[in-house]
Amino acid sequence: MHAEFFPVLVTVRPDDAEYAPTDADPAAARILRAGELRAGDLVLAAISRGRDTLARTAYETEAYRADPAPYDRSCPCDVCYLAAHEPGPWVVLSAGYPWPAHDPWRVDDLALAIPHRRPFCTSQKDTAK
Ligand SMILES: [Zn+2]
Repeated sequence: MHAEFFPVLVTVRPDDAEYAPTDADPAAARILRAGELRAGDLVLAAISRGRDTLARTAYETEAYRADPAPYDRSCPCDVCYLAAHEPGPWVVLSAGYPWPAHDPWRVDDLALAIPHRRPFCTSQKDTAK
């Protein structure tokens, strides 16, 4: 398994009128790779990583439930079309939100999300009984 360590600035979710309110517990949020997200995980923010800038949260204006699906490079929607010209691999996290098209992410892109009904970290030691 590959591990990479770098600083990430996780800010408080904005609460102005542009951002839909959420009752999600921010203490439950975790940084996950897009390829690790599962159906029902609540996506709060992308983690933007500039070449020479500190990685930081970029909050969605409305948190949404992930519904991961394989990326189809031949999909004619505008967003998938743009992704088709970028290096991958990709995963589609939703269809219809945050825009009326697919939402492809690189599988290694980072998201701030609240896992849905699964432990964040388990080991064989925890489950072997
Ligand atoms: Zn598409």
